[in-house]
Amino acid sequence: MMRDTLVEYGRRAVELGLVLGTSGNLSVRSGDLVAVTPAGVALDRLEPEMCPIVDIDGHLVEGELQPSSETPMHLAIYRTTFAQAVCHTHSTFATVVATTQSSLPPVHYNALQLGGEVLVADYACYGTDELAANVKAAMEGKSAALMANHGGVTVGATMEQAFEANRLLEWLCEVYVRGLSIGKPTVLTQDQLAAVVERSLNPPHFPRR
Ligand code: 13P
Ligand code: ZN
Repeated sequence: MMRDTLVEYGRRAVELGLVLGTSGNLSVRSGDLVAVTPAGVALDRLEPEMCPIVDIDGHLVEGELQPSSETPMHLAIYRTTFAQAVCHTHSTFATVVATTQSSLPPVHYNALQLGGEVLVADYACYGTDELAANVKAAMEGKSAALMANHGGVTVGATMEQAFEANRLLEWLCEVYVRGLSIGKPTVLTQDQLAAVVERSLNPPHFPRR
């Protein structure tokens, strides 16, 4: 079941152009176990049994292939948050913003779905505990982070949520980059963002005729 989810969303990640070649990795958690995509395999070539299962401490429990090189990052997130799924991609605009090493400001109210401003985790070599620690710090209280000169990572209570957050991160980065190309995008103020939260908590009631 967990592995089927990785196969399904791996295909979608490639179809939607969020990853290229063997880049990106996905995982889902169930209790103390985590199913993760294997290292070095294109996400549209996965079969369920190719996906390793590890425990929360990083011991291999099942599978012949090696877990993704970013497994330390996935596990660091699971150990410190309520996330049940993690989605890491090298989507184009997220990566473009990540190369600037400055955060993605909330230029659209949908940024609230990711926790507002999206921070960039300090650069560290892929697959390292240092990168895992940097991402964990940048994600605190949020469901997304950019990874300096690398890509983006999102979390959710389900893989569908983590995946949609990744698509949203990419879309917000594209809007921001395109905005920068024609001028200076306006950043929403704290008051404007608070009003959006207030509005979403109190939707209008349309009485029946
Ligand atoms: P893996 O193939 O090991 O998952 O690596 C891809 C990647 O995106 C590394 O950051
Ligand atoms: Zn990566």
